[in-house]
Amino acid sequence: MRRWLSSRRHPTKSACLVCRSAKTKCDETRPCTRCVNKGLTCSELPPSEGGFDESSEKPEKKSTRSRGSKLMRRIEIAEIWEREASSLLDEALRHVLSEFD
Ligand SMILES: [Zn+2]
Ligand SMILES: [Zn+2]
Repeated sequence: MRRWLSSRRHPTKSACLVCRSAKTKCDETRPCTRCVNKGLTCSELPPSEGGFDESSEKPEKKSTRSRGSKLMRRIEIAEIWEREASSLLDEALRHVLSEFD
């Protein structure tokens, strides 16, 4: 649906809705002469499909949860690393100290 609308957005050599429904030749200007003369809205799309809702996309809220758990995992990993590093350092220090013994 959206793709159809957007692909129709660029100027096309086709009649507007009024001319199409009246089966008359459209001069393909926007607004076309016929619509201007009749005081009608010149459009290739139905008025209800004006495309104003395209900017009002719903923000994604699902990703917040997974991102939170990912952060928790990162903290967990960081804590493990810290523990590992400190124990390694401890071992190294002990090793160095034993050399001096
Ligand atoms: Zn027309
Ligand atoms: Zn028209």
